[in-house]
Amino acid sequence: GARFEKPTETRIFTIANQKGGVGKTTTTVNVAGALANGGLNVLVIDNDPQGNASTALGIDHHAGVPSTYDVVIEGTPISEVVQDCAAIPGLLVVPATIDLSGAEIELVSKVARENRLRNAVEAYLNWRSHEGLDRLDYVLIDCPPSLGLLTINAFVAAREVMIPIQCEYYALEGLSQLLNNIELIRGHLNPNLHVSTILLTMFDKRTNLAREVADEVREHFPLETLAATIPRSVRISEAPSYGQTVLTYDPGSSGALAYMEAAQEVAARATQTNHDMSAASAEE
Ligand code: ADP
Ligand code: MG
Repeated sequence: GARFEKPTETRIFTIANQKGGVGKTTTTVNVAGALANGGLNVLVIDNDPQGNASTALGIDHHAGVPSTYDVVIEGTPISEVVQDCAAIPGLLVVPATIDLSGAEIELVSKVARENRLRNAVEAYLNWRSHEGLDRLDYVLIDCPPSLGLLTINAFVAAREVMIPIQCEYYALEGLSQLLNNIELIRGHLNPNLHVSTILLTMFDKRTNLAREVADEVREHFPLETLAATIPRSVRISEAPSYGQTVLTYDPGSSGALAYMEAAQEVAARATQTNHDMSAASAEE
């Protein structure tokens, strides 16, 4: 398969959008799978109590399995909870179990409650290097739609935000709120955070509306928006029920090819640029 460019340091992404059902999890698992297919070392952290990313990657995440909950609440090292994705060499997963649904509340009274995931990821990267393991090239954190402490932990742990945008009505609704929240995180908790990547998903090229939304997003965010767009595809939506990414479920499908293209583009941008999108959003 293709061999993607290795970044000069581990790139840590949060996949964010405050709307549910816009393709965050689908994008997380398929971009992660595609990067691993491209020969890179990738870690997915499932940070959503629903555990959809764990399901889609075929990872055991029944209640009680060591998970993101143990990492953020108990301080368990990531090395003790991480699982290999059997279907995709090079892909590691920290699963989410139903236990994580209590974490929002439990985090409130924890010391350094916003920094717990960042500390765990940093410790894990150091541990790998100390153990002589390959450096991770990418860490992708899948988030719940709400802006609670779990999502804040992801924003603090990451350097880059990837925003999937659904090419449908109201796609841009809530986007300036998301950008404002990212600005607050930058100001108070993580000055290094920036929106580096926007991915247009569920694109139906037959509709004028999809094209209009896509054009509008590209106009506002010309540097951030990937050239690759993800089509609306039944194969993409079927894959998770088989515990698979679309890349192994139907490698020749338009959805699989689009995610490979998107991931290749992400990898090719490995020299990180610091776009500050808050100015653009404020004009709306
Ligand atoms: P989120 O994580 O933002 O809530 P999901 O990734 O779970 O969103 O996607 C929501 C639903 O849309 C899921 O049922 C998923 O299978 C489906 N879906 C996501 N992307 C596509 C696509 N490109 N084509 C068709 N269905 C999709
Ligand atoms: Mg999700």
